[in-house]
Amino acid sequence: MKSEYRPDTIVTHAGREPAAHHGAVSVPVYRASTILLPTLETLDNKESLRLRYGRRGTPTTHALEDAICALENSDRALLAPSGVMAISVVLMSYAEPGAHVLVTDSAYGPTRKFCESVLRKMGVTTTYYDPAAGEDIEALIRPETRLIWMESPGSQTFEIQDVATIARVARSRGIVTVIDNTWSGGYFFKPLDHGVDISIQAGTKYISGHSDLMLGTIACRASEYERLRETYLRFGVCIGSDDAYLALRGLRTLAVRMRQHHVAGLEVAQWLQQQDEVVQVLHPGLPDNPYHNLWKNYFGGASGLFGFIIHETDRKRLARMFDGFSLFGMGSSWGGFESLMTPSNPSVYRTVTSWVPSGQTVRIHVGLEDPRDLIAEIRAGFDRLG
Ligand SMILES: *Cc1c(COP(=O)(O)O)cnc(C)c1O
Repeated sequence: MKSEYRPDTIVTHAGREPAAHHGAVSVPVYRASTILLPTLETLDNKESLRLRYGRRGTPTTHALEDAICALENSDRALLAPSGVMAISVVLMSYAEPGAHVLVTDSAYGPTRKFCESVLRKMGVTTTYYDPAAGEDIEALIRPETRLIWMESPGSQTFEIQDVATIARVARSRGIVTVIDNTWSGGYFFKPLDHGVDISIQAGTKYISGHSDLMLGTIACRASEYERLRETYLRFGVCIGSDDAYLALRGLRTLAVRMRQHHVAGLEVAQWLQQQDEVVQVLHPGLPDNPYHNLWKNYFGGASGLFGFIIHETDRKRLARMFDGFSLFGMGSSWGGFESLMTPSNPSVYRTVTSWVPSGQTVRIHVGLEDPRDLIAEIRAGFDRLG
């Protein structure tokens, strides 16, 4: 369901149909497994019904599917109980013995693990490629290549990929392209507008926005839908209506949250650049970042997640810095309203490109707090490093 509206209007209205729900502004939670059909004729023609059994969707999950299509400019959408399940449904849909897939070396860790475990067992070979690849990706394509996986910016290291070029090369060779679009929330970047076939997100992150929900979204072209849906149905993937409701609630404020993450994240990134403790800031929105021009080409803004590198230090000093924070939490995930900071070690994921930082890498999520309070807290944390 493509929309002619601008992104802020889309997230405010997509998937809503108050007249169908007694005027309620938000689509209510429909808890349903059995859907009763009115006549035998309806039962005999149930294949054509959108609403026929809880696992196949409820009015609440359908509203979220429609909203994701509008957000990502896709023809269809599927919803999964986690981002990882969205990833595995897509990879499984193109897996067959002898097949080959190309995956960016900057991909999210569990994406790689799925390739190394399940896909390998099925006889699918994975080749990792340099996230800086453009036209030259063609050299890695084999007759049996079925899929090219992108993630932009890269997990932990934040390289921006030349998405349109890779999608164009792939299309000319009849290969499907997929991107993990979690970082942009689907708000700052619309991969399908650049020729990508499938865009997945961990809705757990920015769509939820409140660190209280697990969700995966798959937005795709009509050409890929039946194949994806077949995998989806065979595995019995579905989400509960309560979770769809929370995702829709989060989606309504996606635009204002993302704009604030952009402004506050850049403010913190620019401040970090000026600190003696900091060797490098990994934020594509900074003018001196090597991916800045690509980022400007593709993205309408930056989310609150980026990285920075501080001078090498020992674990004890690092603990003094991290354990003393009160605004920055330590934990997996990101994309909620609150700030997070964790030490990270991206080098362990690399296989075809090396990533050798000149110090300790840190991953930061700048939340919706006043950035001046966050900066004061980081300054005090640096002082504790000694
Ligand atoms: C968190 C994350 C996922 C996985 O999402 P879950 O909902 O935790 O399964 C996928 N891709 C990226 C880039 C992520 O950061």
